[in-house]
Amino acid sequence: MRFACLGSGSQGNSLVIEVARTRLLLDCGFTLKEVIARLSRLGLHPDMLDGIVITHEHGDHISGVEQLARRFNVPVWLTYGTMRGAKRTFSMLPRINIIDSHQRFSIGDIEIEPYPVPHDAHEPTQFIFSDGAFRLGVLTDTGCSTTHIETVLSRCHALVLECNHDAQLLASSNYPQSLKQRIGGRLGHLENTISAKLLANLDCSLLQHLIAAHLSKINNTPILAQSALSSTINCDLDWIGVADQSTGFDWRQLI
Ligand SMILES: [Zn+2]
Ligand SMILES: [Zn+2]
Repeated sequence: MRFACLGSGSQGNSLVIEVARTRLLLDCGFTLKEVIARLSRLGLHPDMLDGIVITHEHGDHISGVEQLARRFNVPVWLTYGTMRGAKRTFSMLPRINIIDSHQRFSIGDIEIEPYPVPHDAHEPTQFIFSDGAFRLGVLTDTGCSTTHIETVLSRCHALVLECNHDAQLLASSNYPQSLKQRIGGRLGHLENTISAKLLANLDCSLLQHLIAAHLSKINNTPILAQSALSSTINCDLDWIGVADQSTGFDWRQLI
């Protein structure tokens, strides 16, 4: 099992998960041209995709889904709420699969465990991907932690964890007050120290990879995110990966 990222942040998100001959995208917030270019950096082409799994209907996660799914006939999996939240995008797609945010399902060789999260979308859902032996947990676009989140993310072998902003940088930014409240609120995005606290509550004994994701370009820096997480689990700063907006991150293997 291996995974990689096409890019992460408010300008677009997409993760690739591969188990044996099955390949999925989690979200697609890039134009078709961009997706093709970014997939080719990983040695992939859209023809090689077996599905697109969607977390929620915000543009940075779905803006490229319709074009990609139609042009390459890729099926899409999403909750009913997410479909309702972006009817125009999803009503045109012939191969839609509705999922329950508490019900496991599988696509080819990949087992998928969805879980609901607090975020300002219709039915925001995040996921654990598994090949039956290893577990990759993904959590972005979440305003705060919940007991359920911490239960499902424990004992993962890899984690892609949102570190959206630093509280002080957000407070001193020139964002309008309403936007600051939205981002920092319980249905917004995870602040570095909140992500670190969440991580501290997980069983990390199996963890092989930890990647900070969905960083704000203005209200965060890779070093701030890495130091918040590394001090929690006592590892070197450099051991924590950072998913970049333009380059994502290269393949990471679970062994
Ligand atoms: Zn987002
Ligand atoms: Zn969002």
